[in-house]
Amino acid sequence: MSGIEGKVVAITGASSGIGAATAAYLAERGARLVLGARREDRLKEVVDGILARGGTAAGVVMDVTRRDGLTLLTDTALDRFGRLDVLVSNAGTMAVSPFDELRQDDWDAMVATHITGLLNGVGAALPVFRRQGSGHFVNVASTAAYVVKTPQGVYAATKTAVKVLTEGLRQESGPDLRVTLVSPGLTDTEGVGKGASPETAEAMTRLRDEIGAPPSAVAAAIGFAIGQPDGVDISEVVVRPTAQA
Ligand code: NDP
Repeated sequence: MSGIEGKVVAITGASSGIGAATAAYLAERGARLVLGARREDRLKEVVDGILARGGTAAGVVMDVTRRDGLTLLTDTALDRFGRLDVLVSNAGTMAVSPFDELRQDDWDAMVATHITGLLNGVGAALPVFRRQGSGHFVNVASTAAYVVKTPQGVYAATKTAVKVLTEGLRQESGPDLRVTLVSPGLTDTEGVGKGASPETAEAMTRLRDEIGAPPSAVAAAIGFAIGQPDGVDISEVVVRPTAQA
């Protein structure tokens, strides 16, 4: 199945930012969506907005750090729509801080959300894709997967892992599956600076307000990869503001 229309797309981290923008972009183009996140109220707003505009979407309250969260997402796609064409692993947390602050809970959360969360998605969706003989993993990393800037060491390490896992998965995926890495640069979302140490949060939000790219630009890159003809894989895309060094 080529194009976006009719595809069943599951998106993690769809309650705000890039995930919500991607949901809106794909819904406008006729995709059928299963949207996952932890905050029920914010997720409901996104789903209701899509339904009000005539789109098709279901919300699933889930946590990507738990295997059963991803199973619930893929099972919902199969129950509601009979198939799953794309899994967008987008959920993330940018709680960055200097190592000396020893914010070990934040380090754990980044590892669990970006690495374990991604692998939970592979565990849930790969068997479905293999059974169907088609499927597409879209994994959201970051420009931090290409260059580390202080104090983003742990964040950059986990996003580098996303990049490496995506390439490893692509090499094993065979001719029937597609695997895409999308790496945003600074993007204008509420997630920038959230949970970061105060000085860092202030600097990040100031820069975001000055130069942040709209999340719709990342959504369009994801849509571009999904919309390719069968047998064509967009393997890697970096989307950043021109003002980002
Ligand atoms: P947001 O904070 O707006 O979005 C993050 C999303 O992830 C939310 O929907 C949040 O929902 C969800 N999420 C976080 N943890 C979990 C979890 N354990 N289980 C399920 N959902 C979770 O920020 P962005 O849109 O900016 O971030 C989206 C992705 O883009 C992230 O992976 C981020 O690292 C990446 N990115 C962002 C950049 C930027 O400048 N904005 C730059 C580079 C990469 P909820 O809290 O409801 O669970």
